[in-house]
Amino acid sequence: MKKLVILGAGTAGTMMLNKLNGTLDKSEWQITIVDQFETHYYQPGFLFIPFGIYNRKDVIKPKRDFFPPGTNVIMSEIEKIEPKGNRILLKNNQVLSYDYLIIATGAKISPEETEGLKGGLWHKNIFDFYTIEGACALADFFKHWEGGKLVISITEMPIKCPVAPLEFAFLADWYFTERGIRDKVDIHFVTPLDGAFTKPKASAILGDFLQKKNIKLTSEFNIARVDNEEKKIVSWDEIEVPFDVLVTIPTNKGDDAIERSGLGDELNFIPTDKHTLLAEGYENIFVIGDATNLPSSKAGSVAHFQADILFENFLSVIEGRKPHAKFDGHANCFIESGFGKGILIDFNYDTEPLPGKFPLPGIGPFSLLEETKMNHYGKIMFRWMYWNFLLKGVELPIEANMSMAGKRL
Ligand SMILES: Cc1cc2nc3c(=O)[nH]c(=O)nc-3n(C[C@H](O)[C@H](O)[C@H](O)COP(=O)(O)OP(=O)(O)OC[C@H]3O[C@@H](n4cnc5c(N)ncnc54)[C@H](O)[C@@H]3O)c2cc1C
Repeated sequence: MKKLVILGAGTAGTMMLNKLNGTLDKSEWQITIVDQFETHYYQPGFLFIPFGIYNRKDVIKPKRDFFPPGTNVIMSEIEKIEPKGNRILLKNNQVLSYDYLIIATGAKISPEETEGLKGGLWHKNIFDFYTIEGACALADFFKHWEGGKLVISITEMPIKCPVAPLEFAFLADWYFTERGIRDKVDIHFVTPLDGAFTKPKASAILGDFLQKKNIKLTSEFNIARVDNEEKKIVSWDEIEVPFDVLVTIPTNKGDDAIERSGLGDELNFIPTDKHTLLAEGYENIFVIGDATNLPSSKAGSVAHFQADILFENFLSVIEGRKPHAKFDGHANCFIESGFGKGILIDFNYDTEPLPGKFPLPGIGPFSLLEETKMNHYGKIMFRWMYWNFLLKGVELPIEANMSMAGKRL
């Protein structure tokens, strides 16, 4: 039996398991998937929890619901990967050997990286919404908050779903308007980028949205510390931004097991070939999703497009052929903009988000870089697609590589 091990049963690992399980000959292959937690979180739903749109139950399902029968499932923390010996050490003392490995261990927040961020005000006046605990604690806080200075602060890039902090700002504008206290809430978006977003054209458009919604933007702010006594964030060049409530997007890092294995960069992201998705320097290790160091967005949609490419390349490699499929950095993100509307962006390594239409057979087209109700429905529908199609590895009518159809130059 040849052995394939998939590390991480989140979005990307589960998709790969389902795709390959339906294709690899079961009399020749044993597939093992490893994860530390039984619960699967629909992370895009965390955005909606602070505003009471979703609650905890709306974003969780048992991971095992998505594993095909016969899968060898191991629930344990991964201690270390030993790529030279083709083996993995688990916290439960098991040792797994593999012929091929797919690493899908994702990314997580590391508030400890910033002085004072996890100080006395953590989950009292300082919250994240990138974890279920942070999003639920913020929901409880917002219910009773009567207004003041709300600061949304991105610590450093890259982060998962780089549009999520903007969406948070737009939804906060909507939420406090609905509650009739928008005039009492001063919303301030603070980012290390030179504008609202990473891509210049989209950044200009999204920056205009911030202005229209009376959300203050401070760019090129590199946070050095959080002063819990005086409730302010302070940059390396000593600029201060006071807050009553701080919503932080802390440093995002790959898992500590990647560091323990000596496989990551300084943020524990794994150097990965940007086209083939092979781990650099290895011919039997692929990396997918947030765990890579690729310049594509860290997003579920990206993991989905990568899964199609990795699938092709995996089949080539096990048959002794060169991995011929090329990932082009394709990302497709619905940006919730509040008041029942949304914006859609579609881009890749080389092409910035462009205006125009995004065709989707049977459902679309959706408008690109434009605020529409249809884009909001697309965002809301995504959760259903995620549980029912995406995780199960079902083919969707969207090309893995970006198409120029409908886009205006
Ligand atoms: C607030 C928020 C909003 C988002 N919004 C969107 C959106 O609108 N659209 C979009 O496309 N994407 C969005 N994303 C991003 C999306 O959720 C992620 O990009 C996607 O889940 C990445 O999948 P992954 O498989 O790489 O990682 P994950 O899904 O995080 O899975 C990683 C898995 O590895 C396991 N693991 C890690 N280390 C170990 C270890 N040492 N031992 C055992 N198991 C381990 C974890 O338990 C986890 O199950 C959002 C994310 C957040 C946080």
